[in-house]
Amino acid sequence: MLIAHPRPDGDAIGSTLALRLALMRLGKYPKAACVHPIPDNLAYLPGADSFIQAVPEDPDIDLVVAIDMSDLERTGGIYRDDWRQNYPLLVIDHHETNEAFGDVNLIAPGAAATALPMINVIEALGVAVQEDIATCLLVGLLTDTRGLRTETTTASVLRTVGELIEAGGDYQTVMQRTLDSVPYQQMRGWGIALNRLQLKDAIAWTTVQVSEKEALDIEDHYDLDLGNLLSRVAEAKVIAAFTEMRDGSVKVSMRARPGYNVASIAYELGGGGHKQAAGCTLSGPLHTSVTRVLAMLQNAVAGKQQVHSEEAVAVSEFKNQA
Ligand code: 5GP
Ligand code: MN
Repeated sequence: MLIAHPRPDGDAIGSTLALRLALMRLGKYPKAACVHPIPDNLAYLPGADSFIQAVPEDPDIDLVVAIDMSDLERTGGIYRDDWRQNYPLLVIDHHETNEAFGDVNLIAPGAAATALPMINVIEALGVAVQEDIATCLLVGLLTDTRGLRTETTTASVLRTVGELIEAGGDYQTVMQRTLDSVPYQQMRGWGIALNRLQLKDAIAWTTVQVSEKEALDIEDHYDLDLGNLLSRVAEAKVIAAFTEMRDGSVKVSMRARPGYNVASIAYELGGGGHKQAAGCTLSGPLHTSVTRVLAMLQNAVAGKQQVHSEEAVAVSEFKNQA
């Protein structure tokens, strides 16, 4: 039983499908589960239509694998409490905030994507990483690095991308159908979010309300990917996007420039992620969530500036001594 997280992204789906294909080559019958539907820009991937959204009462399970998630809550309710006694749990992930909640934990903290430790797993199983499997892994690497832009994009990551292409991974299709493929409704949603964009003290933020999502027919499980959109605001050191849900809760998506950290803020608020990209869900209402998170982001930016000025003092003292 392979589990991807709710509002799934390219790394969760790509890494899960790659492992599914590898296990099938070994004659196994893996099931892939995710509480939410697979986004349109990932639907072309081999096996994308095989995801189940709910697990039958009496499932036939040997092993549960939690993929690209830092805590058990991120299975979105797929994982049931009584599984703990009955089935071993394997975690394959790359989040610094990972709580090592499995019986076995393969965590590559700070790695560009879960696709990277997944390559090691598949090779260790003795399955060749090529063709369909390589394409699925490319999706993970290319989406989690926002098209090879993030600080995690090392020379080794670029070499791995090259190797996956040489192994038959379809880079062009991934670029065209996943990264450069934003549904019209989503782009209209971006219009609303950008129209209300604010910037103060190197923090950029925006909100999207339920009424606005309703007008565009955007469901709660649909991820607008606002964090990655706002991450490009030049003046911003950190950004936050607040999306209101039908139950009044608020999904918070945060991004930080290198040197700043939003993972600790998300973790403190019950979520998780990476230094540069993290998120959480707050109980709401929207304006309270905004005030709360902005205060924490202000501290993060101010704290960093303080470190900078202390460094500057230390450097000038050193120069004076010299
Ligand atoms: P995004 O802002 O794109 O939804 O998520 C950014 C990063 O934070 C991703 O790595 C994602 O897995 C993680 N993340 C987002 N929301 C949550 C959450 O509610 N809990 C945890 N543990 N991680 C989250
Ligand atoms: Mn990931």
